[in-house]
Amino acid sequence: MFDVMPFWQNYIDGQFVDGGAGRLVVDDPATGAPLAEQAMADASDVDRAVQAAKRVHESGVLMDMRPVERGRMVRKMGDYLIDNIEEIASVLTQEAGKPLWEAYTEVRNAARYFEYYGNQAETLEGRSIPLGSNYFDFTIHEPFGVSGQVIPWNFPLEIASRSIACGLVTGNSVVLKSSELDPLSSQFFARAAEAAGFPAGAVNIFCGYGHEAGAALAGHNDVNQMVFTGSVATGIAIATAAAQNIVPCVLELGGKSAAIVHDDADIDQFMNDVRKGIYFNAGQVCSAMSRIVVHESIHDAVVDGVVALARSLSVGPGIDRPEFGLNMGPMISQKQRDRAEGMVSDAERAGALVATGGRKMNQPGFFLEPTVVTNVTPDMIIANEEVFGPVVSVLKFSTEEEALRIANGTPYGLVAGVFTSSLDRATRAARVLRGGQVFVNEWFAGGVETPFGGYGKSGYGREKGREALMNYVQTKNVAIRLR
Ligand code: NAD
Repeated sequence: MFDVMPFWQNYIDGQFVDGGAGRLVVDDPATGAPLAEQAMADASDVDRAVQAAKRVHESGVLMDMRPVERGRMVRKMGDYLIDNIEEIASVLTQEAGKPLWEAYTEVRNAARYFEYYGNQAETLEGRSIPLGSNYFDFTIHEPFGVSGQVIPWNFPLEIASRSIACGLVTGNSVVLKSSELDPLSSQFFARAAEAAGFPAGAVNIFCGYGHEAGAALAGHNDVNQMVFTGSVATGIAIATAAAQNIVPCVLELGGKSAAIVHDDADIDQFMNDVRKGIYFNAGQVCSAMSRIVVHESIHDAVVDGVVALARSLSVGPGIDRPEFGLNMGPMISQKQRDRAEGMVSDAERAGALVATGGRKMNQPGFFLEPTVVTNVTPDMIIANEEVFGPVVSVLKFSTEEEALRIANGTPYGLVAGVFTSSLDRATRAARVLRGGQVFVNEWFAGGVETPFGGYGKSGYGREKGREALMNYVQTKNVAIRLR
């Protein structure tokens, strides 16, 4: 375990600096004890970061570079993360609570974004449009300029990486605000940008309060594009602020995603997916398998399996869980844990049954028992609102049509899954399910290469895959009249 530095600064215009809004104490979710202090940016820090990013953009240094050079620098940022994985994973586990092996996975996945988008840098090409012999016409994809990015706490490294890497390879400069709950590990992006040779001001990383630094960034007149990952309420606030400056947004918001389990599904395979689908990162995953919609004929067997799985998890401090396995860490904060516990009690009062778990654990830290709630009906709050914790709701169906209706019955539409051995059923479901990703027979199937994003209240725009690049550029058409 690496010792965590007692104080972490922001990175603005190539300097590590204190913040105008003072310091914030970051807790270790496994103990509830203070871990370190983080500098907090105020609106004038945000302005300095945006002005630095604007200066870099206007200098043309990133935009004028041959894309392969930008791509190499972006890839070097990923190399930096891998070269320092032991330290970064240790800090991440201590500030976010996740098992150490999950923190390693997160650092590797973060580095993978820099690799993938570094490789994409020179593939973004315009086209030539025929207008007859009197014209030569072509299109160029130009960066917006300053990309403002606000991230949540659940995967601070992975989520930041996808936006930073896309922003930089397309020639934008980046101003990123981390979450108040686990901001420390974001500083490694600043170190990575320096190691990769990005000029001062190209990458700015700071923490600050959402209502202060976050709002100042989203509403800043010199920000040209906003990328936000987080809750629906904050997404609305950010999009509203950005709209005042006619600034486009990418919004990656919440989800209440359903796995439909048919009677012909491979149940052993499905159980494997439940572990990662709902108990990975203690269920604090936007695309978590938070609802299981199961055929009535196999309902009891599936519930027994999920309950046995939940009870088999070893729950405790992430730092003591270095190996991949049936284990789980605490939730991020007391507030989140108590909210999740309250939602389970409310569901019980509404007629649901808590098949296992549902209570906070009698130990320090923000632990909630791995929880399975059954007898859930589509009208219940727990079937519609994100718990964002290790809580799965089980609903029953009798016909395929009913299953699809239940799965599509929330305001969200992030991902959805179907488990069946029938290709016809899977294909019908894939066509009907409302979500940016549909998983067939494997939850989270896909990767950095596959586009990800929401339908409905889950947001708009796509991150991951080549589709994401188009959110970071604007298209210019050049029409030349020939003599
Ligand atoms: P949140 O919306 O509370 O906070 C996210 C970020 O927004 C934080 O950095 C916060 O400081 C900032 N913020 C808060 N108010 C702001 C304002 N007025 N203006 C600007 N910034 C502001 O979300 P959270 O609790 O950190 O994260 C959990 C949510 O994120 C869940 O709903 C989850 O589903 C969602 N999420 C979505 C994805 C995805 O890719 N779709 C990924 C992870 C998390």
